[in-house]
Amino acid sequence: MNRKQARTRLLELRDLLTARHRRIERHLQQREEPLPQDSEERASELAGHETMASLDDGARAELQQIERALARLDAGSYGRCERCRGRIADARLELIPYAALCAACAGA
Ligand SMILES: [Zn+2]
Repeated sequence: MNRKQARTRLLELRDLLTARHRRIERHLQQREEPLPQDSEERASELAGHETMASLDDGARAELQQIERALARLDAGSYGRCERCRGRIADARLELIPYAALCAACAGA
C-alpha cells in the first residue's frame, strides 16, 4: 500500500467514523428526557445508555489513532512501528490502516 492509498483509506475511515460519532451523539442528546419510573425499564434504559457511551469512546479512540496515522504520513514515518522502528507488514496496514505498531509489538 503506497502513501497515497493509505491517506485515502484513512480519510475514508475518518469520514465514516465521524458520521457514526455524530449519529451516536445525537442519539445521546435525544435521551435526556426523564427515565421511566418502572425500575426494570429503567435498568434497560441505562444499559442501553452505557452501550452507546462506550461505543462513543471507541469511536473517539479510533479517530485519534487515525489522526495520528495521518500525522505520521505527513512526517514520512507511516508504516514504521512506533516501538521497534521496524516495517509494519502491508497485510496488517490493509487491515488496520492506522496501526502504529507491527504485529510483533502489538502482541498479535
Ligand atoms: Zn515493532
